[in-house]
Order: sequence, then structure tokens, then C-alpha cells
Amino acid sequence: MNNQPDEAAKTDDCVVPPPLDKEELHAFVLGMNEHQAREIIEYVEWQCNAKRESDLEKSGTTELEEELVEHAEKIKSERVHGTDYDVWDVHTNQGRWWVITSPTNLYSQTLMPSLDYTLSFHIGVMSRVAAKREIRRDDSGDEVLLITSRKIVQAQERFDAADEAEDFQAVGLLCREALTTFIREIAEAGMLDKVPEPPKLSDFKAWAEHIIGSIAAGSSAEFVRGYLKSMANKGWELVNWLTHAKNATRHDAQLALSATEYIVDQLMMLALRSLADAPENCGKCGSFKITVTWRPYIGDEGEYVAQCDVCNAIRVKQLSTDTSVIQKSGLANR
Ligand SMILES: [Zn+2]
Repeated sequence: MNNQPDEAAKTDDCVVPPPLDKEELHAFVLGMNEHQAREIIEYVEWQCNAKRESDLEKSGTTELEEELVEHAEKIKSERVHGTDYDVWDVHTNQGRWWVITSPTNLYSQTLMPSLDYTLSFHIGVMSRVAAKREIRRDDSGDEVLLITSRKIVQAQERFDAADEAEDFQAVGLLCREALTTFIREIAEAGMLDKVPEPPKLSDFKAWAEHIIGSIAAGSSAEFVRGYLKSMANKGWELVNWLTHAKNATRHDAQLALSATEYIVDQLMMLALRSLADAPENCGKCGSFKITVTWRPYIGDEGEYVAQCDVCNAIRVKQLSTDTSVIQKSGLANR
């Protein structure tokens, strides 16, 4: 301890405190979503240390210093065409990054000092990427739907190149294959195991009804169930009609394609929620902002994580190859 008052204190009453330790900063940021912050931190460290890790793996040695996050703070969220983009300011021991979500990417603040410019750049790049027909990837179970996703991409590409009625019929054929493949793939993933008298796998309507009926249960869900069932049924009928409609138009094919994508999205979300035992709303704070994600481990194992976006209550359900289920902690059901 230095008991001597320093020069500044002797001559001036105004003492400027030293900067806060960056690792302590998070304690003073209000409304921080710890789960989101952890994902951003893991993402940045993974991206920044990829070269270092490959060096280590190849030669057991590296010149590169490990880049570690000292502070991550969400600066803003902006919704553009219905997509939410979160922007994070991330400080590491070596520099500073903008990290922008949906899908997540990082930008050096040295190269791109303006946040607004970087956000515009990110949205521009992501729209161009989205315009390319590719298998979509997110965390929420697309691992299960590899062939379904490929069929949908084939249908999209066929649609892009289509000029004549036969081409539009072919789009219908691929959409129908996508829907039947979807049922087969979720059955293979063990998502349809608890059915006493299972319909044939090719019976799309019966399976859709089963998924919707068992998940959106209860009288309050009557209208939701009714809507989902007719969406699945009418979509299936539309797609089947298109496969042999001699007067099919571009608009018909587009409708069938978007119906197929929508049906797969909705049914997959229902199946995931059921498998993760995700409650409709948070047992702690009552919020309906529940996000369900699938985190694969190495091999066939993984876990379903249902998390409240508001209070961060979390429920983790682990699934192993023998589909035994271990519940870890409590986002309680109401
Ligand atoms: Zn909550």
C-alpha cells in the first residue's frame, strides 16, 4: 500500500477513477441475457482461434496468442423485413468486433468503425446469400431433415428454371417427395415413437394429423389445431393436384412450394417442442418467448434446450442413442 497521496490528489480535488476492468463490466450492464451473451462469446472465440487451433492440431505448436473475450454487450436490435438482427460490441484481449446475428457473423471494428454501415453491409450480404438456393441450416433440428431440405432445394431450383406446365408439375412432384420424406426422417429420428397404432409412413395426412393432434392439445388450442390441420391437408392436396395439373401455372407452383416449406417448418417446430417437452410459456415469468434449440454432441447424442428469452429459465433434455431421456433442470411446465 502506498500511503503517500499522489501528485494529482495534492493539487486537484478532481480524481478521475481508473477504467473498470473489462471482465467486471458485465455486472453493470442491465437486462443482459446471459445465455445469448455466452453464445456470442463462444462464437467469437471459436472464429478467432480457428487458425491457432488448426496449427496446434497439425504441429502441436503455434505462434498465435489465444484471443479471449473480455466483454460482450448487445448494442441494438433492428427488425428488417421481419428478421431481427442483434448487434453486439465484443472486446477481446486483442481487439474489438461487431457481431451481428441471423445468421451470426463478425466484423473487425478497426476495418469497419461504423456500426450502422456494418449492419447495412451484413443485411445486404445475408440477403444475397439467402437468395441463393441452398440447404438452410439453423440450430433447430435441420440435422434431422437432411433429405427433406435437399428435396425442397431441388423443388426451388426446379421452380427457378421452370417455364412450362410440365416443369410446374415437376415442382409439385418434388414438393410431394419433400413432405413424405419429412415424415420418414422424423420417424427415423425417433420423433414418432410413442404412437400406439402408427399409420403407414406414406400416409402424410394421417401423420400430420397425429403430430398436430398430440401436440396442440386442449380445448383452448381448438382453433390452432383446426388451422394447422387444414393447412397440412390442403397443402398436401394442392401439391398432389399440381403433380398432374395440365394447366398448371407459375403461380400454382409457387403456392405449392411455399405451402410445402411452411408445412415442414410448422410441423417440425411442433415435433421439436414436443420432444424437448417445451412448455407453452415460462413457468417462472409467464413469458411466451420460448426458444427451442437442438445441440448435437459428438456421435448421435444431443440435447434439446428450451429457454425463456425473458428471464433465461432453461430446460435441458438430453437424448442419447437409446433415446433415454435425462432431464437436467427446471423451466417448469405450467
Ligand atoms: Zn421466463
